[in-house]
Amino acid sequence: MNQNRSSGDLAELERAELEAWLEARGIERFRARQLFRWIYGQGVTDISAMTNLPRELRQVLVDEVKISTPALVTRERSIDGTEKFLLCLADGRQVESVFIPDTPSMTFCISTQVGCAMACAFCLTGKMGLVRNLTAGEIVGQVRVLVDAVNMRGKRFNIVLMGMGEPLHNYDETMKALRILADADGFAVSPRRVTLSTVGLLPALERLAHEPIMPNLAISLHAPTDEIRGQLVPINKKYGVGEIIAACKRFPLKKRSRITFEYVLLAGVNDSPADANRLARLLAGVKSKVNVIPLNAAAGIPFDRPSDEAIDRFARILAEHHLTVSVRKSRGRDIRAACGQLIVESQRQSPAQQLAVAAFGA
Ligand code: SAH
Repeated sequence: MNQNRSSGDLAELERAELEAWLEARGIERFRARQLFRWIYGQGVTDISAMTNLPRELRQVLVDEVKISTPALVTRERSIDGTEKFLLCLADGRQVESVFIPDTPSMTFCISTQVGCAMACAFCLTGKMGLVRNLTAGEIVGQVRVLVDAVNMRGKRFNIVLMGMGEPLHNYDETMKALRILADADGFAVSPRRVTLSTVGLLPALERLAHEPIMPNLAISLHAPTDEIRGQLVPINKKYGVGEIIAACKRFPLKKRSRITFEYVLLAGVNDSPADANRLARLLAGVKSKVNVIPLNAAAGIPFDRPSDEAIDRFARILAEHHLTVSVRKSRGRDIRAACGQLIVESQRQSPAQQLAVAAFGA
């Protein structure tokens, strides 16, 4: 943990760190609970408005700390109700977060990095490259901003770590964010309502298996063989399909829970009946469900979305093998908020982002 950066910013502190910070200044630990209730429960970041804190404590806090909150730059609403938010961070970098209503639950799709280093061949965010990791406070900050923007304060919601970035490539800050989100005096988001989606960085996956706070797991598989997956997901050259499936078989799952396998369907690449049969064989013996995601096409993405018939045929073969299959309905495509379409396109871009946009015409 970077003490200099985080000690002065309450948004970066999980409960234990906040308690330690207070204790080091001779302040009672239980004030941490009150602060969590204000910041996460009530959405109040103006310290002078925290009326149950003694006046002297408020003064100490006003003098010594800040509570960083991402700034809302733009929001766009899709005809299907999905909303995409562009948020600006303290250093001027920007990320996108998405609110997906009625699926049937309410879901926030949150980013874990600015850009992404994984460079999956069909993903627009991957074209940006990795600009930087988000801090835990910036990951939680997206939820803090969106909850009020869409009037969800006090209501139940799900979180999917499927925005920009690879969560397991930013392991420590992502896990810390999940602990802050789970805090009973904050948002109290049960890990059962959180899904972490990953390309399958094996060492981090093994680490995740031992976490006290365990989100649901989604693996971006996209192909049944190393040959095909290697062309789509560059990191497959390091952690192959066989190793990932073996790690999934070892993964400690709660009763009745399963691993989701995401499979972006690309016309003529991974959508044949033979691919479906191979996928079914690969997943035999894994507690799994398959989420087929027909490609969300975009300029600069050198693949096509399969026909509806090809999508149906693929899903049907999996179902015939007794796999649980869902075909993801694309949400927010008209505002480019759908899977793999998050890329920062505004004027205030870093050189890396400008390059990405220039090169791919996104
Ligand atoms: N890095 C993580 C999480 C972010 S992406 C991961 O790869 O899992 C969330 C999902 O959207 C992933 O399954 C990803 O492969 C998928 N996706 C990316 N680009 C897409 C596109 N153009 N169309 C449909 N799904 C896409």
